[in-house]
Amino acid sequence: MLTQPIKAFRCAFLDFVDDPFYVAEAESIRYIADGLLVVENGKIKELGHYQNLQDKYAEVPIIAYPGMLIMPGFIDTHIHFPQTEMIAAYGEQLLEWLNQYVFPTEAKFKDKAYAQKIAAIFLDELIKNGTTTALVFATVHPQSVDAFFEEASRRNLRMIAGKVMMDRNAPNNLSDTAETAYQESKQLIQKWHKKERLLYAVTPRFAITSTPEQLNLAGKLLAEFPDVYLHTHLSENVNEVEWVKQLFPESQGYLDVYDRTGLVGDRSVFAHGVQLTDAEFQRLSKANSAIAFCPTSNLFLGSGLFKLNKAKCVEHPVKLGLGTDVGAGTSFSLLDTATEAYKVAQLQNQKLSPFQALFLATLGGAKALSLEDKIGNFDVGKEADFVVLDLRATPLMALRNSAITPTSLAELAEQAFALIVLGGDRAIHATYIMGEACE
Ligand SMILES: [Zn+2]
Repeated sequence: MLTQPIKAFRCAFLDFVDDPFYVAEAESIRYIADGLLVVENGKIKELGHYQNLQDKYAEVPIIAYPGMLIMPGFIDTHIHFPQTEMIAAYGEQLLEWLNQYVFPTEAKFKDKAYAQKIAAIFLDELIKNGTTTALVFATVHPQSVDAFFEEASRRNLRMIAGKVMMDRNAPNNLSDTAETAYQESKQLIQKWHKKERLLYAVTPRFAITSTPEQLNLAGKLLAEFPDVYLHTHLSENVNEVEWVKQLFPESQGYLDVYDRTGLVGDRSVFAHGVQLTDAEFQRLSKANSAIAFCPTSNLFLGSGLFKLNKAKCVEHPVKLGLGTDVGAGTSFSLLDTATEAYKVAQLQNQKLSPFQALFLATLGGAKALSLEDKIGNFDVGKEADFVVLDLRATPLMALRNSAITPTSLAELAEQAFALIVLGGDRAIHATYIMGEACE
């Protein structure tokens, strides 16, 4: 009799062992048409061909998903949980959109019970879309962070979040001060960082809504707690970049504002970067910082086209993940987000291959969040967060993707691309957290 909680999943498996932007796709991909994934105590014990492993695990209960595809859980490198209810807000670009829609919504999160209710809806939505880890903005209220982490803890999720720091150019009811932001963030770090699977990110909204004093104190927090994250916005919109220049005349540009205050490091994740200069891309590469590429949001707010080829160039590679950026983003689905990323590349005469897109949504995202030792693929010892995908979830998908098991990389790529473009939340058959199915 086996006494340990061990179980196995029989299915087709696809994950990444290397970066297909730099290494040949055939060597970056691990695809097993009939595989067995063995999970013990919530972690990956083994992945291999069913034929080779069936005798070894003959006594282990097997959960089979014939005709489906299992991938690592999707990773969203930039999203705002309090904006869940104002997704699809009409008609504005970044700065006006913040004033008209975002700030009035975020003011509601002073009420902890309300924050808890929205956090629960938000996390259910992530799971429904196959997203198992996200880097998340809360609001300026510490209780919004408590509410979020309590709900994430209840679901045993690996999540990163932080309290927004905002002490100018924001409504009074959403403003802290440099000092209260520092003190409240510090208390939240001590309360939540590394508790279970939860991690903290120091979260100034962006340069416009923080005084230099506040950004300096954010840098002080990073120095005091070197393994917390920095999560903010960077160079999204032309008018925003212009305003930052006026607010920080002594700086060499937008990124330099963060650099001077100690916020540009290897655990820093900057959302957008649509307007970045070549020199700024190079600086991010050198600092080993990450960018969250948020195509649905960049298109929705009319911000512009992210220069994918600059971020993923060979000479100055920048860590890159995909972000939905809900509520400026228009979908919780990383598959939908990958589709828009493909279109953003197309508009610049560049190609984003289906494997590159799925890499960004899994192992690429894990690397962007410095979590590749814990999540992102099916290497032994990693946490068993994964998604069961139905490539024939709708009549149209069934028509597009025949039931034939791919026998070549080209066939697999074609199926994967149709999954990305047509799949959305319909393709998510089940989501597993630490080897347990979500209800
Ligand atoms: Zn955002």
